[in-house]
Amino acid sequence: MELLERLKALSDAFGVAGHEDEVRELIRGMASPYVDSIEVDPLGNLICSRGEGPTVMLDAHMDEVGFLVRWIEKDGFIRITPVGGWDERLLLGHRVVIRARNGKKVKGIIGATPPHILSQEERKKAVPLEDLFVDVGAKSREEVEEMGIAIGSPLTIHYPCEPLRGGYVTGKAFDDRVGCLGALEALRITAEEELPYKLVVNFATGEELGLRGAKAAAYRINPRVALAIEGTIGADVPGIPEAKQPTRLGAGPAITVADRSIVVRPKMVEFLEAVAREEGIPFQYKLPTYGGTDAGAIHLERGGILAGVVSVPCRYIHSPVSLLYLPDLEATVKLVVGFLRRAEGLLR
Ligand SMILES: [Zn+2]
Repeated sequence: MELLERLKALSDAFGVAGHEDEVRELIRGMASPYVDSIEVDPLGNLICSRGEGPTVMLDAHMDEVGFLVRWIEKDGFIRITPVGGWDERLLLGHRVVIRARNGKKVKGIIGATPPHILSQEERKKAVPLEDLFVDVGAKSREEVEEMGIAIGSPLTIHYPCEPLRGGYVTGKAFDDRVGCLGALEALRITAEEELPYKLVVNFATGEELGLRGAKAAAYRINPRVALAIEGTIGADVPGIPEAKQPTRLGAGPAITVADRSIVVRPKMVEFLEAVAREEGIPFQYKLPTYGGTDAGAIHLERGGILAGVVSVPCRYIHSPVSLLYLPDLEATVKLVVGFLRRAEGLLR
């Protein structure tokens, strides 16, 4: 499978936070040829291990932002509540997929009031999320329930991953399936290498709800060093000054110096810079201090864990469509592989 096909499979998989089963099984299949053991912990983290010795951990989160069914109206319309941070202005008129109790996918749309019957004032305002409704083409609550949809059923806005032109690709869940792909690629590329430590890759649950899976996994894995791989905020778009663009597409992987969840120790930042320079990989810094990642939870576990973050810049994350530039993803994979080949230097 080409890189783009793997990205598509991962991005299109269903994995609203707390309901990561489908993406977990996909990743289990992709990782299994390259690791010695795989376990799933009580929070649903997929923990893949290889080798012996002190532990180096990679982390990427499987979950994506989405919604849960909050209420089903008598006339069959569905009210929803967010899972993770959504921009309410962006939601009207999109297609959704609801995962019913029986695992079946039910298609729906987020309904909008026709502009014809809105006042001028109403047209200018975003509709609050609590007023939104999903229409699955049902006449009654009973009909919705018969589909296996219940209070708590997860749903996500679904747009299939597809290439645009010139190496640009769009998809719904690049945050953080690009990180998952980065970790999988690093496992695949280093599969035949004898790394002088135990490598554990955690595919985490619940990041979008507050770094939940990674916190428990870091305690269990007890690594000496950890690296989170993310899809982060690319904001090189009209109207945003460069000083407020956390990252830019086409400038390579982003090394985090500080975000809202961690100030990365300079030792780690300098190590990643050195790897990039030695490998001839262009890189950028993620401007402080936007967002947070699993490294924020990991570095506080046990007696404190040395942790860093590298990210693939992605425009429009936490919206129904994100956009990345494939050479950034390829360079991020190279940086992670370079990190693994040298990580022993951080264990001394
Ligand atoms: Zn993320």
